[in-house]
Order: sequence, then C-alpha cells, then structure tokens
Amino acid sequence: MTICQLRQVRKTYATPEGPYAAVDGIDLDVHEGEFVAIAGPSGSGKSTLLNLLAGIERAEAGELNVAGAALHTMGEAALTAWRGRHVGVVFQFFQLLPTLTALENVLLPMDFCGHLPRARRTERALALLGQLGLVSQAHRFPAALSGGQQQRVALARALANEPRLLLADEPTGNLDTASAESLLDLLQALVDEQGLSVVMVTHEAAAMRRAMRCLHLRDGRVVDGAALEQAHA
Ligand code: ADP
Repeated sequence: MTICQLRQVRKTYATPEGPYAAVDGIDLDVHEGEFVAIAGPSGSGKSTLLNLLAGIERAEAGELNVAGAALHTMGEAALTAWRGRHVGVVFQFFQLLPTLTALENVLLPMDFCGHLPRARRTERALALLGQLGLVSQAHRFPAALSGGQQQRVALARALANEPRLLLADEPTGNLDTASAESLLDLLQALVDEQGLSVVMVTHEAAAMRRAMRCLHLRDGRVVDGAALEQAHA
C-alpha cells in the first residue's frame, strides 16, 4: 500500500529574476509504515516538498495522491479538512500556541476536526501525553517546558486525530542531542509498533540514520533515492 504517490510534481515561485522551480518534476512513492528522510542542501526544495505533501502549498503541475486524497483536485477548504484528519505535521520550532496548556494544545486539533466524540478527547490527549512521557506536564504552558518537551507536545498534537501519515520538517533542528535522540526514538517506535508512515526533512546524519530510506534533493529534483538499508545498529 502506498500512502504518498507523487507524479511529476512541480512548484514554481515568482522571484525578481523570474520564475524559480523549487520542486521541479518530482516522482515519489512512500509506502505505508515507511520512515523516509528527505535531505539536501539549503534551498534544495525540502520544505516545499513537505508542504506540498501536507497540502499547505499547491502544486501547479503533477499529481499528488496522499493519505487517501487526490490533492491536485481539491480546493482549500477540502484540503484543510483532509489535513486536520489524516496528516500530522511537526515543525522545527514546535509552533505550539503559547496561551494554551500542553493538554489544550493537543485537544485543539481534536475539537477542530470533530473525528473523536467530545467525551473521549481529554482521555485520548492525556494518553498521548503519557505515551510521550509528558503526563506531569499536561497543565503547563509551553514557555514552562524545555525544547524537547515542547516538541513532544507538538508530536502528541500531530497524532491527536490518529493520522496514518506524519510529516516532520527538521523536527530535531532546534533540540539538544539527548532530546533529539529521544524524539527520534519516539518516531521510530511509532513506525515500528503502530505502522505510522513518516516523512521527515532533516540535514542531520543522526536523523537520516533512523530512516529506512533517504531521498536527496538538489535544485528541486531527487538526485539519489537509493535505500540506505540501515540496520538501526
Ligand atoms: P529547503 O527546505 O531545502 O531549504 P525550500 O523548499 O525552503 O528549500 O526552498 C526552495 C527554494 O524555493 C529556495 O530557493 C527558496 O528561496 C525558494 N522559496 C521557498 N519559498 C519561497 C517563497 N514563498 N517565495 C519565493 N521563493 C521561495
């Protein structure tokens, strides 16, 4: 089963020098339960590709079938509803809402989506925070948490609506080594034990080593899609 299938996807930005193809005809297949890293130099199109997979950016050419939806055929409202239900997104700078507690941050996408009955949401949010080692932090605000704890709250929020696909943009880029390893352990366990599919942009070797496969981008194109066959040793 394929959870992401991209065919000849192209995204161009207008620049003072003329149109620039940040993603320039990419084909990509990600299978259910795969952990894929996307690497490449700064400006190679990694974030643009991830945002296309999330339906945050729109492609101007090509086909994107992601988590059960044909993104290239959908309008903004349908994309927003689809993303909220079927995709979890984690960012480098966490992007938690500072005026909400950890628990409230995790509840927010559940309330927005309405997938789970209201009576079950708090129980699920607390279970997720517990699974990520945060139960004692549930009623604290993001500013009172360490970077590693904030990113784990962001991961709990991303998992709130039980997505099958997690998209992560440099999730360890703002963490110390121990917190980064702990986050990667959690991602790996979600893949191995729950069959989650993960696509992670990173330029860190330690993060790439966790992935089953690493795609290298350069100038908006895939230059090396070879399986790394990591033994996770
Ligand atoms: P990466 O994540 O690999 O650093 P990006 O996907 O952020 O690369 O960017 C790829 C290219 O597209 C870069 O040259 C960047 O300057 C350009 N770009 C990204 N977003 C925009 C935008 N909103 N407007 C114009 N150019 C952009």
